[in-house]
Amino acid sequence: MQTCDKCASESKVLLSYGPHKLCEEHFVDFFEKRVGRTIREHNLVKKGEKIAVGVSGGKDSATTLYLLHKYYSNSNEIHAVMIDEGIPGYRDVSLEKGKELCETLGIEYTVATYKKEVGHSMEDIKHKIDLNHALGSTCGFCGVFRRFLLNKLALSVNADKLATGHNLDDEVQSICMNFFDADTQRMATLGPIVQEQKEHGLVPRIKPLWETPENEVIAYAAFKGLPHYSGECCPYSYQAKRNLFREMLNKMEASIPGTKYSILSSFKELKPIIRQNMKGQKITTCSQCGNPSAKTLCMVCTKQNQLAEEKLEIKNHKPTREKDRALSCTIKYTA
Ligand code: SF4
Ligand SMILES: [Zn+2]
Ligand SMILES: [Zn+2]
Repeated sequence: MQTCDKCASESKVLLSYGPHKLCEEHFVDFFEKRVGRTIREHNLVKKGEKIAVGVSGGKDSATTLYLLHKYYSNSNEIHAVMIDEGIPGYRDVSLEKGKELCETLGIEYTVATYKKEVGHSMEDIKHKIDLNHALGSTCGFCGVFRRFLLNKLALSVNADKLATGHNLDDEVQSICMNFFDADTQRMATLGPIVQEQKEHGLVPRIKPLWETPENEVIAYAAFKGLPHYSGECCPYSYQAKRNLFREMLNKMEASIPGTKYSILSSFKELKPIIRQNMKGQKITTCSQCGNPSAKTLCMVCTKQNQLAEEKLEIKNHKPTREKDRALSCTIKYTA
């Protein structure tokens, strides 16, 4: 029997980057202390602030909600906000878990749906993309609409901060994806806290799990028995470019333990330089909806316009590949 580094109990978790072998009790303690350190070091939560927590029903948001409630419910009001993208058999099931956790902890929650708020469920959007691949990826639409609605819900409950369940793996994948795309502007928006103050109609976003690896969140949620969805991942996620980066980084981490933390450390050094170069960039308002935007037309309106014009696109679609050519010949678009 392998024993814990800190006591004589059986080790339940092996952290290769330490390396550490920890029993359940010492792993939970180690995990919670690290999340607490992330929150304190980056000043993520101030006394009295109202915190909206984005809850999807998955392990990351369940852990975030549980820990914020555990440590801050005496000094801060916590409200869960949930987005139903309209992905049957997936999000409806996971949101039930999110609601169960909220009810167990006695936390109020508010739900918004894509269908009502942006006029299309993800199922509708996926259907449109299947008919016209030129529209792009499902996740491209989903990410834009989710960010918009989470912020809208956070504003509607008068929250000072919006906490999300982004973990170390998510963040490192985003850093690498933006780096590969040479998108330094977007890279500069990453970090444990996005925007310090509530301004331009945007609620500051915080990521308490910023320095916590995904596999440890899985172990923690299981040890604590947190109600969460652990079934199949999103049926539309196969299109996600992120999957390639997840795979690459996991391979790197397995061969060179500590890789993910090294990338995060490099990012910490680079971020002030990138931000310095971006000084002077102004937030303006979208000409269509009036919401804050870096461009004349915000991303939400851009995506909505794309969907609205889709019928026209299909009719006028000039196929460039054999597959598209075959598709355009058979489509009878009736929506
Ligand atoms: S995997 Fe893509 S489509 Fe599915 S919920 Fe996530 S962002 Fe949306
Ligand atoms: Zn121990
Ligand atoms: Zn707009």
